[in-house]
Amino acid sequence: MEFHGEVRVLLVEDEVALADAVRRGLVAEGFSVDVVHDGRDGLRAGLERRHDVIVLDILLPGMNGYKVCENLRAQSVWTPILMLTAKDGEYDEAEALDTGADDFLSKPFSFVVLVARLRALGRRTQVRPAALSAGSLTLDPGTAVCSRDGREVSLTPRERSLLEALLRREGAAASKTDLLREVWGPEFDGDPNIVEVYVGYLRRKIDDGFDHKLLQTVRGVGYRVVADA
Ligand code: CA
Repeated sequence: MEFHGEVRVLLVEDEVALADAVRRGLVAEGFSVDVVHDGRDGLRAGLERRHDVIVLDILLPGMNGYKVCENLRAQSVWTPILMLTAKDGEYDEAEALDTGADDFLSKPFSFVVLVARLRALGRRTQVRPAALSAGSLTLDPGTAVCSRDGREVSLTPRERSLLEALLRREGAAASKTDLLREVWGPEFDGDPNIVEVYVGYLRRKIDDGFDHKLLQTVRGVGYRVVADA
């Protein structure tokens, strides 16, 4: 086995047998593992001890995985988080990423894939994401605060992800297909016009009442954000 150095994992999973099997497997692979079976304990452990990566189930007693993730990020814990999503249609990957998770794995998962993802995440440096901006608009992916001209704009997680995807392009246009994949996830199979719908929501929130429209349509291409002076 290639040695990567010890990776400290916090595993938050309420299925005790699964948690135990994963813990034993990870220890055998050279990881050190803390296990908790409740969302509140997961939050506490994430705040109290430094880990290299957190594996977080979504459906948990005490507090669900999304809330644990949001709370950790809100308290400036930037440990990479791998969320375990169940493919029952009730929860989706895009939502996991919206709450500040770095990666997701759907249950049932392959142990080999889990180990590979954890090694990749464990190597990531834990940095607070930098604020994104375009002229008078700023979006801080860390705190999720968006503002235009110093006035806070309240966005839903999905609107925020869409805006973030556009801002990361620094003025270059994004196609609807790219936005759909990045914001709604590769497995989204609903109506692709959802992108237009959300662009409309964003326009109302960030451009209404301003002469300069930040969010512009590039005919035949898609959308881009054009900074004002
Ligand atoms: Ca569960």
